[in-house]
Amino acid sequence: MTKQEAPVADSTFPWSKSNLPKQLFINNEFVDAKSLKKLEVHNPKDGSLLADDVSLAGEQDVDAAVAAAEAAFPAWKKTPAMKRRDLLLKLADLIDQYMTNLAELSRISMGAPYTSIGALETRGSAQAYRYFAGWCDKFAGETYPQDDGFLKIVQNEPLGVTVGITPWNGPTAVVALKSAPALATGNCFILKPSEKTPFSALALATLVKAAGFPPGVFQVLPGDGTTGALLASHMKVRKISFTGSTATGRKIQEMAAKSNLKRVTLELGGKSPAVVFDDANLENAISWCVRAICLNTGQVCVAASRVYVQEGIYDKFLEGYKKAMEEQGKTVGDPDATETQMGPIVDKAQFDRVSGFLERGRSQGTLLTGGSRVGEKGYFVQPTVFTDVAEDAEICKNEIFGPVSILNKFKTEEEIIAKANDTKYGLMAGIFTQDINRALRISSELDSGMVGINCISLTFLNAPFGGTKESGMGQAIKPEKQDTGFDASDGSEEG
Ligand code: NAD
Repeated sequence: MTKQEAPVADSTFPWSKSNLPKQLFINNEFVDAKSLKKLEVHNPKDGSLLADDVSLAGEQDVDAAVAAAEAAFPAWKKTPAMKRRDLLLKLADLIDQYMTNLAELSRISMGAPYTSIGALETRGSAQAYRYFAGWCDKFAGETYPQDDGFLKIVQNEPLGVTVGITPWNGPTAVVALKSAPALATGNCFILKPSEKTPFSALALATLVKAAGFPPGVFQVLPGDGTTGALLASHMKVRKISFTGSTATGRKIQEMAAKSNLKRVTLELGGKSPAVVFDDANLENAISWCVRAICLNTGQVCVAASRVYVQEGIYDKFLEGYKKAMEEQGKTVGDPDATETQMGPIVDKAQFDRVSGFLERGRSQGTLLTGGSRVGEKGYFVQPTVFTDVAEDAEICKNEIFGPVSILNKFKTEEEIIAKANDTKYGLMAGIFTQDINRALRISSELDSGMVGINCISLTFLNAPFGGTKESGMGQAIKPEKQDTGFDASDGSEEG
């Protein structure tokens, strides 16, 4: 454990844990919900109540935000691209300035330690706004000269009112990844953040206003699934970009279909395999496999939750992996402490869910390490590995969303391709080998949205991100790929 300097918050920021943002953000103002309903938010490090009066947006509130977005859209659509770019860049600068403050607001409700995921997540949101600022003037469209003298012009147009519904495990970064491309391409954006972690998203709204975005362009509606459902079935919403569980994604697609056939992008769950061959660099493979199940306490959609190791290297891998997971276990603790790398599970419901897997896992495989809660207070669990797990066992099939992996042995390429693909998910995979031909051959056999070679769970802003099968549909795609038809998280379309 390394002792690090405690991050210093900027005292000019209006929000803090003793002054939490709790209202809706509509038309650049914080307002109470007309629904009069309230949300409770807890601190996962000890279960204490942070607030029981966070506004929950109901039907009238959703209608008000959608109307404000519709009213703002014509002018926002015509705002010069360079002006939109400058606003996004300004927002990114403000996020950098108040990074510690935003990270604190995420940490108190999610438990993400600043020195590991907390800073990474908040810095990632600034990077997303900065990156997508560069997209603003790259949507001109295409021209197609015809033999008979006609010229077909394809002009990309923003959709109008777009919505992002986000999970709790990326309370700032996922918000940025959804809103940045939507705003860059001239759409108005309404955010429905997770009811478990609404504070950093609401605080971000203050920065959006300070950056100079006009009223109605970026709005935040805290609420639960009922608020999300109102947005998903709203007739005036043209696009939903959703990140969350497969079960909710399915409902959203259904609501979109039953209402106005709004476009839907779904970024859902995963059960990502890491495949380690005999010739892999052992140290590198172990390091990635540990990082990819421990980062954010395993509450990451691309977590390396199934580790398959070829028989020749298996015993050595097992020894190193166990040791490294146990080292990580020593860094589980108070997310406010600078030496902590792994914080708690987000809340009691998730903790009980993960604990259930830990309990039942003991009869589905051999417990190699971990398997228990840490401490008596809060929702901390040990990094856990089960070995020799049957492929059809629940812990091998279901997304656990905690620092829990399975470690199994394999012999041949054919066998591992079949096992890796034997899942309803298809989000991420990793192949560890020195043989690039094998890596490329197998990566094209894996039914996975993304495959890392000698790495796993690494994602990039300038490359597509998304899954196959029940891990979702639609991806953020690069501007130059527009000619394949837009179905991106950005909410643009060819018009
Ligand atoms: P969740 O599906 O319970 O909730 C996600 C969001 O959807 C929340 O804002 C919630 O209020 C809202 N919601 C719930 N019911 C709704 C409904 N009926 N209609 C509309 N909105 C509704 O998921 P979660 O527990 O917050 O997040 C964990 C899940 O998210 C995991 O399965 C994880 O794999 C997945 N995830 C995926 C990615 C990815 O990019 N693929 C990234 C992060 C998390």
